[in-house]
Amino acid sequence: MATLSGWHKVDSLMVSESVCGAVDFCFAGLRVVVTGGTRGIGLAIASGFAAAGAEVLVTGTRPAAADYAVFPAGCGYQQLRLGERADITTLAVAAGRLDVLVNNAGGTGGARTPHDFDTAVNINLNSVFHLTDALSDSLAGSRLRGGASVINVASEMALFGSPHFYGYGAAKAAIVQLTRSFCVALAPRGIRVNAVLPGSVPTPMTNAYAEDPAVHKMVCDATPLGRWGEPEEIADAVLFLASPAARFISGHTLVVDGGYSITK
Ligand code: NAD
Repeated sequence: MATLSGWHKVDSLMVSESVCGAVDFCFAGLRVVVTGGTRGIGLAIASGFAAAGAEVLVTGTRPAAADYAVFPAGCGYQQLRLGERADITTLAVAAGRLDVLVNNAGGTGGARTPHDFDTAVNINLNSVFHLTDALSDSLAGSRLRGGASVINVASEMALFGSPHFYGYGAAKAAIVQLTRSFCVALAPRGIRVNAVLPGSVPTPMTNAYAEDPAVHKMVCDATPLGRWGEPEEIADAVLFLASPAARFISGHTLVVDGGYSITK
């Protein structure tokens, strides 16, 4: 078969010799906080930053790292219960210089009751405002090329209505807007603010759905890429947005869902 004369002879390479597809980020010498970094998507994000050389502090609800059977290697730990304003203050006072804040922690909450609605909005939205605000001075001291970064992990529930997730959906939609407001407010201080909207990813939060054959198939069938996502695929998007490769991106919402949302 004729070949364009400008092509090099990659066809002769063994597949294993091809290095295409892998992106190596470098966050050496930089400090990253990942909320809810002890499991699920947060664990993958924390592990990704640690593997890229960052000094990573993960937060969780338990008193100490030793209280977790699995913990991201090489990371520090701080208790941060998002509903407790004092925990946010404690972290902010001790944080020092910070380069990346990943607001990952969150949860769907329960039934349709006024209490559950308030709790879901408090955990998924209010805490993100308070923590970002409290850490903005620390982020303003960043030495990350392209500026410090705040990455908010929202959800595709920001895009759809659901009769099951009133507070969660409202909070995640508001996170998209909060991302825009913080983008404008923090840009003069050299801080970029973006959001990631994950699609369906098996984690402790969603395992019950992922393991239900009917739900699992429904998601696969409705997703152009034909499968559920992996926590590491959300982490890759977060690392990209925090990296200097994204230094002219702020106020953006990056949907990472295999195309699910555009079929809706
Ligand atoms: P997960 O339940 O495995 O992890 C959630 C983390 O948030 C845990 O570490 C948990 O301790 C922490 N958290 C929850 N409530 C907290 C509180 N009150 N105080 C402090 N920490 C708290 O779930 P996940 O799937 O890894 O979720 C991570 C993020 O991704 C969440 O914001 C979630 O809304 C979002 N998300 C997940 C999916 C998915 O399919 N898994 C889809 C869209 C968005």
